[in-house]
Amino acid sequence: MELSRRVRRISPSPTMAITSKAKELKAKGVDVIGFGAGEPDFDTPDHIKEAAKEAIDMGFTKYTPPAGIPELRRAVADKLRSENGIDYEPEQVVITDGAKQALFNLMLSVIDDGDEVVIPSPYWVTYPEQVKFAGGTPVFVETKEIKGFALTLEELKPAITPRTKMVILCTPHNPTGSVIPKEELERIGHFCAERGILIASDECYEYLTYDGFKHTSIASISPDIKEVTVTINALSKSFSMTGWRVGFAAGPKEIIDAMIKINSQSISNVNSIAQKAAVAALTKPKGFLKEWLSAFDERRRYMVETLNQIPGVSCIMPKGAFYAFPNVKELLKLGNFKDDWELAEFLLERAKIAVVPGSAFGYPGYLRLSYATSMENIEEGLKRFKEAVEERL
Ligand code: PLP
Repeated sequence: MELSRRVRRISPSPTMAITSKAKELKAKGVDVIGFGAGEPDFDTPDHIKEAAKEAIDMGFTKYTPPAGIPELRRAVADKLRSENGIDYEPEQVVITDGAKQALFNLMLSVIDDGDEVVIPSPYWVTYPEQVKFAGGTPVFVETKEIKGFALTLEELKPAITPRTKMVILCTPHNPTGSVIPKEELERIGHFCAERGILIASDECYEYLTYDGFKHTSIASISPDIKEVTVTINALSKSFSMTGWRVGFAAGPKEIIDAMIKINSQSISNVNSIAQKAAVAALTKPKGFLKEWLSAFDERRRYMVETLNQIPGVSCIMPKGAFYAFPNVKELLKLGNFKDDWELAEFLLERAKIAVVPGSAFGYPGYLRLSYATSMENIEEGLKRFKEAVEERL
């Protein structure tokens, strides 16, 4: 049976290769330390779990509207108003199966064959594949390490053509931890609004910013920018709820209605119990976030300082999210590695640590290490990294 052209256009996640190899080794009893995780290592807070248990006990176990339960759409609209400064009506909100499905529905709702979607690189692996799946063409804009990997309008401009339909922004950023400053978001936002180019604003890591930096939602900047923006977010990273699968999108009603229509003919609705838990997450006090943030901050500093002590490795200090993105170009040369894939394999075999090569994010010569793991793991894992490298050189 020949598979569809659509599905043949996309590749499975390249990070899976390393992750499965790490799992294989672990299953064989090898003590592998994973730096590949894209999820917080904290447990989902108890009050959120309680809300889910209550939903089950109350029999809240049936289909919900495809757009999400009204209570949750309202909670999202309230959150976006009070925390992000964006005025959306609940009718402009759709509840999705994580941010990933919000992005997927958005692509399918707005992209036609041949449309171009601008994606800053390095990029989260899913963006280009979803664009291709929808029939569009990803156009990459390389951001620069020297500018902290934060996209600028000057970098964006040359990538814009009459076929540009959308620009994907992710701030705070996976995989680099970069954060686009408010002034730059203003410039990018006005530029897109003037040309009617859509902005998909992925804000999954909004709570995770450091050194006093405050996240800005691009749609909050002005009404004309809001009109071309779809704001995407999820409870996955913010509330340590990756497995619950609750995300959302908010934006122009016409686009949100199209995304709801896709829900109604695909998933029907997000799990009813998880939606009730999400209401609790969004409406109850979020005191625990401060503690999580300070743990991440401590790990971030330690990881970056320690990476910089490894020969051939240099790492800038990320401003957000929970990833470090060290430059290993010098190490590749010194250690005679063919590329960052080979280095990642070497580290897995020799140091028993799992890292993701920058090539997986369209940016060779770098590695991504998540610090969403315990301080003990970080200390031990980086010690092994350094020893393996020193042995090789
Ligand atoms: N967007 C970015 C930038 C991410 O890093 C991730 C997860 O790794 C997602 C979206 C997907 O999040 P969710 O688990 O809510 O689908």
